[in-house]
Amino acid sequence: MPKIETKRPEPNSTINKGFLESARVCPSPNHDERPDIDDISLIVIHNISLPPNEFGGDGIDQLFTNTLDRDEHPFYKEIDHLRVSSHLLIRREGEVVQYVPFEKRAWHAGESSYLGRSVCNDFSIGIEMEGTDFEPFTEVQYQTLEQTLTALLKRYPSLSKENITGHEHIAPGRKTDPGPYFRWDSLSDALDVQLPANAKLETDTEIDNDGQR
Ligand SMILES: [Zn+2]
Repeated sequence: MPKIETKRPEPNSTINKGFLESARVCPSPNHDERPDIDDISLIVIHNISLPPNEFGGDGIDQLFTNTLDRDEHPFYKEIDHLRVSSHLLIRREGEVVQYVPFEKRAWHAGESSYLGRSVCNDFSIGIEMEGTDFEPFTEVQYQTLEQTLTALLKRYPSLSKENITGHEHIAPGRKTDPGPYFRWDSLSDALDVQLPANAKLETDTEIDNDGQR
């Protein structure tokens, strides 16, 4: 595939003490220690909107800080017991919010598997795109995501652009985000790599069929 030359915004975000300097910080208590701080090796893309399919409110901050008001929306009664977080949220207008420092383990992936490794929270960074499975993300969200990925790849050499995938790929059948409207092709062009990364080992099926190895 020929490399497509596209003008992209220069990365203007630096990372200091585990925080993206351009981000608004909204600290989440929903995190703990990574088992191996030198093994930050996967980036997981998600989507989220709260209330569902509504943008711009405080619901996501509230979910990640355990302060959802269960009377504010019927759906909140179903989720206010959850203790979840992500490292970053990229909002519709391009604002970046950081909930957990990158060196700590955020609780975004749940039951998951990447190339035969389970518990992806241990070794991954979670990035939420404010959005849904049912409509396009915004241009500025993609630009901000590309800048953010560039900054992360530069700061953490254990990451690589080949190891970027979606929540739906590490938790197939259980999760559907970032969903069909997420443009993996433009992210692939921007980073000059084929994304999303295949989360399933090529040998998975053979092992299943063989039953021995
Ligand atoms: Zn997700």
